[in-house]
Amino acid sequence: MHELSFAENIVEIIHKSVPRDELEDVRIVRLKIGTLSGIVADSLDFCFCAISAETPLANARLEIEHIPFSVRCNSCQKTFVNDIGIVVCPECGGVDTNVVAGRELQLTEIELDDKKEKTS
Ligand SMILES: [Zn+2]
Repeated sequence: MHELSFAENIVEIIHKSVPRDELEDVRIVRLKIGTLSGIVADSLDFCFCAISAETPLANARLEIEHIPFSVRCNSCQKTFVNDIGIVVCPECGGVDTNVVAGRELQLTEIELDDKKEKTS
């Protein structure tokens, strides 16, 4: 149910950043989701649709950018990418590594429909 609470967070953030009378103009919500964030994009999408249906946010959809898990080795300075969370350097076998990306869970942009005609 991780996705459901994150979807609720997204709705909350949108409500804080967009004036109430413009909520129905929200079209795209851009997110960055790291491979290791624990969030399943499809599931998040489903939850978001479920809780935004029949609300002013019914027209909004999520656009998700996946950030691969990426680790930097402090011994040989190499950065390597993998999707399963390995933190041992494949080059030198070192374990002195830092995760540099892949845990993101970020709302980066809310896009409104600015082409909407203002006439009744
Ligand atoms: Zn290394």
